[in-house]
Amino acid sequence: MRKQIVAGNWKMNKDYVDSEILVSKLLSYHKHSSTEVIIAPPFTNLLAAVNTLKGSSIEVAAQNMHFAENGAYTGETSVLMLKSIGVQAVILGHSERRAYFNETDALLAKKVDTALAHDMRIIFCFGEELKDRKAGNEKAVVESQIKNALFHLPSAAWGQIVLAYEPVWAIGTGETASPNQAQDMHAFIRKTLADNYSEALADGVSILYGGSVKPSNAKEIFSKTDVDGGLIGGASLDAAQFTDIVNAF
Ligand code: PEP
Repeated sequence: MRKQIVAGNWKMNKDYVDSEILVSKLLSYHKHSSTEVIIAPPFTNLLAAVNTLKGSSIEVAAQNMHFAENGAYTGETSVLMLKSIGVQAVILGHSERRAYFNETDALLAKKVDTALAHDMRIIFCFGEELKDRKAGNEKAVVESQIKNALFHLPSAAWGQIVLAYEPVWAIGTGETASPNQAQDMHAFIRKTLADNYSEALADGVSILYGGSVKPSNAKEIFSKTDVDGGLIGGASLDAAQFTDIVNAF
């Protein structure tokens, strides 16, 4: 049985004090359930979040990391640094990193390899732009993104990978893919995994949907067979909304 996961990507929001307030609220609203909960605060708040959440079932992820273990990369953060403060997961491939920081599939493949070499869990994001969907190319784009960055991996590595399908046109826009559009793409992703690896592997990989998920639409999206949870941006900044989304399963 694959895991149901709700992850919150805070992006570049919340200073240290506001972050601790949000983490404490999340902790007080959180009820233990079979749904895994992950939050990804900014780098400056990771250590405090790890400490505050110690002993709880809410996990902490970073929003990015460099492909090198250390070295002359001013301003960057390495997997070893993240691991040293107790961070066990990282978001890679977010569309904002691809668009604003020129992250390519080839670069992401290197980051994936470094993360896995250090037993880091990866939430790997991908998704088509509006022009791709309008041209009917959404599946080809998605297939190439996951193939280029992930299909060099051996089967054993997939235990550490969570996929997050995030159509770019639905991120932060208020526009959501319909539950059927999400299911259609998730089923395609799972079939692609089955064709390239095995049915058993494809069945075990959690595929999250991301793009304007809110308490009002989460239940319907999460009810789809191949949707195993959500990666939440805007609504993860509010403890009550995020908790309602977690409880939508
Ligand atoms: C995201 O950035 O990963 C995201 C899904 O954002 P939002 O929920 O705000 O659309």
